[in-house]
Amino acid sequence: MLINFNRTVAYRCPACGEFAYGNFSLFELSGRKGISVQCSCGHSSIEILPENKVTYSIRIQCLVCDEIHKFSLPFSSLAKKECCEFTCPNVIVGLVFIGKDEAVKKAVCQNEAYVSEVVAACGLNHTGKNGVTMLKALDKIQDLSDREMLFCECGANIIDVEIHEDDIILECCLCGSTMVLTTDMIRNNNFAHLDKLVIPCKH
Ligand SMILES: [Zn+2]
Ligand SMILES: [Zn+2]
Ligand SMILES: [Zn+2]
Repeated sequence: MLINFNRTVAYRCPACGEFAYGNFSLFELSGRKGISVQCSCGHSSIEILPENKVTYSIRIQCLVCDEIHKFSLPFSSLAKKECCEFTCPNVIVGLVFIGKDEAVKKAVCQNEAYVSEVVAACGLNHTGKNGVTMLKALDKIQDLSDREMLFCECGANIIDVEIHEDDIILECCLCGSTMVLTTDMIRNNNFAHLDKLVIPCKH
């Protein structure tokens, strides 16, 4: 039997929302060295670094909750398992997949299909590849609204939320002022940590 030392890593890029792929050999991870894979968008990377003699650690900024999640990867799992899967602890979205090429690609497809189902169940089919980003935005908007931290400068807090493929429009039902949240803003502007959203009045 031929032993396959090559591994593929796929991670969900927090900057562009796409899956980024990289390849490495188990030999590259031996000893004290780690490996790093960068997304083709150039705005994020992931590192697999030795934690001790038998375990590697992976740190990734999460697309969904903006936190840095840290995962442990035992070398034995990496050597034996077809695919090791790491998901966001807050929302069940696959963030990192490491293993044999075919198994990783299959797991990514399965996770994408699962995410699409959740997105569709929320009535967000039309948001395409931005589905996860929109789920994250809606969750945050709902949270702010529940805490009465979503309002318009005019004082009203009845806000209409319109979700498009690439952005969300918030409109004050009283004065008609609007605010546009682009997917880039939602992904990259510390959106998950906002403590309030105020629609600027045009008057
Ligand atoms: Zn990217
Ligand atoms: Zn997360
Ligand atoms: Zn208003």
